[in-house]
Amino acid sequence: MGDERKIYGLEKLRETLKVSEPTAKAMRSNRATETKPEIKLRQALWAAGLRGYRKNVRRLPGAPDVVFGPSKVCVFLHGCFWHGCERCTRNLKPRKNAAYWQAKIMRNQERDRRNEAALEADGWFVLTIWECELKEGLPAFVERVLQAVERRRKSHG
Ligand SMILES: [Zn+2]
Repeated sequence: MGDERKIYGLEKLRETLKVSEPTAKAMRSNRATETKPEIKLRQALWAAGLRGYRKNVRRLPGAPDVVFGPSKVCVFLHGCFWHGCERCTRNLKPRKNAAYWQAKIMRNQERDRRNEAALEADGWFVLTIWECELKEGLPAFVERVLQAVERRRKSHG
């Protein structure tokens, strides 16, 4: 809840402030820099012996967070609020502008589905981990990534 309020405040600020183009640019690039959850995920992948991935590959739909090019495996790390994690958003209390946020989150979810479908149509294997899963589900997720990469590396010769 605290985080959302913070995010909400930030969005409000962006909407109300008239910022110069350089400032707007800095705000955008700030958003694009890596977050703690991303670092945690990549450290776990690295520790499992996974190498040779690229991060935030923007030429692919949805700019997957981690991409294993040769085996065509890509990984998304979804923030629970913005991407509408069922486990986490289920218990949210209605708030001011609830409809606005719901619409925004639904658009994100639709876009996620479209991106995933486009990737799969192009032969990619897509794995997604939610931010809340990083706490306890990370080892199991890393194992799934490891298996997918190995399996597909073999089948792709
Ligand atoms: Zn969640």
